[in-house]
Amino acid sequence: KRAAYAELRDVEPFTRDGERIEVMMNAGLRDDVGMLAMTGADGIGLYRTEFQFLVSAALPQRERQARLYRDVLDAAKGKKVIFRTVDIGGDKSLPYISSENAKEDENPAMGWRALRLALERKGLMKAQARALLEGCAGRELNVMFPMVSEPWEFDAAKEVFDQQLDYLKKRKHQLPSAINFGVMLEVPSLAETLDLLIPRLKFISIGTNDLTQFLFAADRANPMLAERYDWVSPSILRFLKRVVQSCVGHPVNLGVCGEMGGRRLEALALLGLGIRRLSITPAAVGPIKELVRKIDTREIADAMNGWLASPPPDMRVALQEWADA
Ligand code: PEP
Ligand code: MG
Repeated sequence: KRAAYAELRDVEPFTRDGERIEVMMNAGLRDDVGMLAMTGADGIGLYRTEFQFLVSAALPQRERQARLYRDVLDAAKGKKVIFRTVDIGGDKSLPYISSENAKEDENPAMGWRALRLALERKGLMKAQARALLEGCAGRELNVMFPMVSEPWEFDAAKEVFDQQLDYLKKRKHQLPSAINFGVMLEVPSLAETLDLLIPRLKFISIGTNDLTQFLFAADRANPMLAERYDWVSPSILRFLKRVVQSCVGHPVNLGVCGEMGGRRLEALALLGLGIRRLSITPAAVGPIKELVRKIDTREIADAMNGWLASPPPDMRVALQEWADA
């Protein structure tokens, strides 16, 4: 098996009907980037920048942040990297960023975290924006914001970047060759106003880990609930289908970066919904490429439309039977 995936490393993931699927990987540490070459992933679809913060005893200085981003791009050797701004707070709380309120967060996943925290701690956000702009000087910067729940949060976050960009421009610093902004879609409310925000986005990445817990009101960290709700349940798949439909006709690159995309039947379902970019755990890149090469997207889309209209008793069984047929 291992040898088979090594062979797949240099194989491009085309489906039988000739659709090129982007198979990217998730990362969070400088050393993870080496997995790009090992797996042959198309790039890093989710770089979790909070890891640097979580392993530091104090707030990482701007220069250190910039150096990490530069190192990551160097190691990626021209492959695309999407940097996600910090998703800290909630359960990933840091001793050096505290708030009276955060201590009282009874539901940390739904609490003062990610962009909610960053937009209030503007110093933190400004430093990260500048570090990303500096670290990606001369190269493409792809940046995405976590936990966006309403369009104004995206605008406020982008404004911080625009201000830092102005500052660097005035001082004639080298800037990124291009800057693309996107959001994580992981809070269900954003799906309801996505049409308003889409024209301002280059890409959207669906974070199915958080999205699932919010859709089902089921804590993703609670083992008692781990098996209760299936990623391939009609609720999730219908929700995702609507998101795919809201993107039709817009030049926005839609992908999935939650763990769901790295599992075989789940990935099959996502392809059936029209998702064409997956960012997954490095170990899943080979197996998912193998899956991609076996399917015809028109056939799975037809099957999926039927299942969504009239869900089978067990969607997982239906997908498994389809895969085995
Ligand atoms: C997600 O929520 O699906 C996601 C990819 O982000 P994280 O797991 O870091 O919350
Ligand atoms: Mg998330």
